[in-house]
Amino acid sequence: MKSLNLLTKKDVENIKLIVLDVDGVLVPRGTKIRQAGNKTSFVVKKIAQKQILQIKKLHETGFKVNINSGRGLYFLQLMFSEILPFVSLTYENGSATWFKGKVYQHINSFNKLKKIYSELKKVKHRDIKGFEPKEFIITLHCKKRVAEIEKIVGKYRNLYGIWNGDAYDIGIKKVQTKALGLRRLIKLLGIRKNNVLALGDNFNDREMLEEAGISISADKSRLKGDFCVPLNGKFLPADLVMQKIIQLKTKI
Ligand SMILES: [Mg+2]
Repeated sequence: MKSLNLLTKKDVENIKLIVLDVDGVLVPRGTKIRQAGNKTSFVVKKIAQKQILQIKKLHETGFKVNINSGRGLYFLQLMFSEILPFVSLTYENGSATWFKGKVYQHINSFNKLKKIYSELKKVKHRDIKGFEPKEFIITLHCKKRVAEIEKIVGKYRNLYGIWNGDAYDIGIKKVQTKALGLRRLIKLLGIRKNNVLALGDNFNDREMLEEAGISISADKSRLKGDFCVPLNGKFLPADLVMQKIIQLKTKI
């Protein structure tokens, strides 16, 4: 993997769409969620003003910006409320995309996930923090890995259970990935794979990065890409990437 510093003006010449993951990329990693009985509470991290300005700048420069996240739509709408006119939101690992107020559903996972969901709900363990509200995937927050959950997920050969350090994301293997959303969005926008630059930091970004003309990893230990940026440097990964692209595009 090459350092982002080696990205050239020529590399980005064909790029029309910038795809950004959220956690670890646009905001620091980690979610605070708590479930007590029927009450679920969580903290919504807002993106910083600096990133808002960078996304607006990319938009002005002629790029389309897509946020591609494992989170639910309600959460992303809150997080990105100030810049909704400038972005599309692909959510729950590629399950659907919000674009100009319209929702495009890319998959129907109900029948394949309903059984495991009822099984998971029955598990009692002190390290389980709770389910994050989701429509199409299952996200179960835990303090650390829980063997009982992994045993249940293991029984379902058509499902994945990705542990990202905070939670398990459970969905349909090979299908319900961020790449599905990206492929559908590419069609919707009438562009091609080589027009896409994507940035991610975690295991659930793998398929998405493979679907992009230029891929950037913000965590070399979890993800391969054409280029890489540091996860815990002075600037957030998305900050570095947007700064670099703006620089390349506006420099004469
Ligand atoms: Mg992430």
